Amino acid sequence: MAEQESLEFGKADFVLLDQVTMEHFMENLKLRFEMGRIYTYIGEVVVSMNPYKQTQLYGKDVIEQYQGRELYERPPHLYAVADAAYKAMKRRAKDTCIVISGESGAGKTEASKYIMQYIAAITNPSQREEVERVKNVLLKSNCVLEAFGNAKTNRNDNSSRFGKYMDINFDFKGDPTGGHINNYLLEKSRILHQQPGERNFHSFYQLLLGTSDAQLASLHLCRDPAAYRFTSEGASNNLLASDQSNFKDVADAMKVIGFSPEEIDSVYKILATILHLGNVSFVAEGDAVAIENRELVSQLAELTSTQPESLLRTLLYRAVATGGGEVIEKGHSAKEANYARDACAKAIYERLFCWIVGRINTVIEVKNYDARLHGKNTVIAVLDIYGFEIFDSNSFEQFCINYCNEKLQQLFIELILRQEQEEYQREGIEWQHIEYFNNQIIVDLVEQPHKGIISILDEACLTGGQVTDAMFLESMNTKLGKHPHYTSRKLCATDKSMEFGRDFRIKHYAGNVTYSVEGFIDKNKDTLFQDFKRLMYNSTDPVLRDMWPEGEVSITEVTKRPLTAATLFKNSMVALVENLASKEPYYVRCIKPNDQKSPLLFDAERCRHQVEYLGLLENVRVRRAGFAYRQPYDRFLLRYKMTCEYTWPNHLMPTDQEATRALIDQHGFQDDVAYGHTKLFIRMPQILFCLEQERAQL
Ligand code: ADP
Ligand code: MG
Repeated sequence: MAEQESLEFGKADFVLLDQVTMEHFMENLKLRFEMGRIYTYIGEVVVSMNPYKQTQLYGKDVIEQYQGRELYERPPHLYAVADAAYKAMKRRAKDTCIVISGESGAGKTEASKYIMQYIAAITNPSQREEVERVKNVLLKSNCVLEAFGNAKTNRNDNSSRFGKYMDINFDFKGDPTGGHINNYLLEKSRILHQQPGERNFHSFYQLLLGTSDAQLASLHLCRDPAAYRFTSEGASNNLLASDQSNFKDVADAMKVIGFSPEEIDSVYKILATILHLGNVSFVAEGDAVAIENRELVSQLAELTSTQPESLLRTLLYRAVATGGGEVIEKGHSAKEANYARDACAKAIYERLFCWIVGRINTVIEVKNYDARLHGKNTVIAVLDIYGFEIFDSNSFEQFCINYCNEKLQQLFIELILRQEQEEYQREGIEWQHIEYFNNQIIVDLVEQPHKGIISILDEACLTGGQVTDAMFLESMNTKLGKHPHYTSRKLCATDKSMEFGRDFRIKHYAGNVTYSVEGFIDKNKDTLFQDFKRLMYNSTDPVLRDMWPEGEVSITEVTKRPLTAATLFKNSMVALVENLASKEPYYVRCIKPNDQKSPLLFDAERCRHQVEYLGLLENVRVRRAGFAYRQPYDRFLLRYKMTCEYTWPNHLMPTDQEATRALIDQHGFQDDVAYGHTKLFIRMPQILFCLEQERAQL
């Protein structure tokens, strides 16, 4: 049990609630938040409240208090979970994962950083140089990834717009030897537009405000974000004081990680390319299209190290293979030219981001690991991925993100129950099955082959001719009309909250979300003309060229359709879940106390909603339905031996298990416990209250 604190701080573990009701849960959550106790357990799960203020919770002294301790010995903390994962990895050679979930702004990314900080702090006592290097790169990588993958949103000034999965590899000594980062679905539509009050990715503002005059001039840029279409929406009142200094920090971090000066230059050129590209405007000239601001073409060619003539053609035409193997050039309409330019800008940024992740990976990848010499290479994985999103207007991105959360929720239920079950089996204790809501039905609605929404969307995208979003909606209505978790305005004409012919609704485990079907087809096809890829591939800038390997293929050879965006995402989610399922899981469930970023306000309605959809009450029930508490015999005795004459001052029994039995019998608790091979299982939390009380009175 978490170290008993005075009850004025509430219950350190929700399992100890007098009754498992929403009211009791909320009362405890509120009390602890107001007392600055932002962490609370449900068994081994940490519930974390965003304090929205600096706290004294993360100093070196605190780290020391948690090092090597058991979970219940200290007040709840992320460090305790990090330590538990670390111990499992080190002692039992188990691969573990720490899954951090919660909505935007709930504190996931901060939590992931504290976990990394903890692991870095407790490893490599012998200060081996290579290990120090790896740790340093792992820590610095956050700064770079945040510059390129984070943005100011209305929910969070530093919101991650991508999902991050990070493996940290350890050697037999338990020291980090390397790692690997996977990134998921960068929200690239943000390049083109942002909601009022939001910004584009930090990297653009950092470059404009932070770089030297000379470099700025060489990139043909001016300092004013309002001068560029892609940053103008977010420019007015949204410059962050930190942009300027962050530019330097990020540049330094890239250097430390091992980016060469040339590579860093290329990165800036690519950012500048995107900014300029956004300003290219097309005018119709009769049947054809021309570029209004021709000077941009030569600047873009310079920045991308391509030929101005090729660049110009790529902006205005596309190559089309005729049936006879001939290739002809077809001019864009103004609309097509705009579309192609924007698609290109998004794609360049996305590939830049992936290239950066890949570049970091080449530095931290475990090299020359010889298992015969060093023992098994074990892993702690940390997953910091977007939480459930319900906006006023929800689109393809939210659809993907919420599907991801369905998958993770399913895994949570499965793993938490499975883990319980396995523990009972391992300890030789009988287990009764517990009912829980299985959201498999919603996962199927989205991903099932042939019948699911993604299949229907792909099918619509693959039929030739002009497919519209409305046709996709029709098709869903026909095929999913009877599904209990799907509806649309057409199917439910009385529901005025949806727009006719545009919206559909999924009943997610976390609540109803209405999606606008607009843009689904386009975003799923994610068309990028081969001409752009070829242009980039022919760049003499090695970084840019590296990002477009498929540009090598000639147009006549391109036959296979690329996988759609939704299918690529689905595949990556399936792989992610499979990977996580193979590891021993630890969970951090983050809650956002209010929407005002206030350290004082506990918005009961908002919190209750999060507790509901994170399934926390269910979690408590599952935990209590079996044996709420379990402790290794030696630990149990250490804490309570003074309450029993057979165990104090010396225990006279041959084993700790028998000593524990004597103690339990003397108190008359024998009907509410079970004896595992190594642990005592306690059904009623009240038993621990009694023992604690007795201990305090001695
Ligand atoms: P998420 O990744 O869930 O969207 P973040 O981790 O970026 O959310 O947190 C949003 C903001 O909340 C942070 O920028 C920080 O200001 C604040 N915050 C989150 N966790 C903590 C914490 N443990 N201590 C202090 N402030 C925090
Ligand atoms: Mg985040």
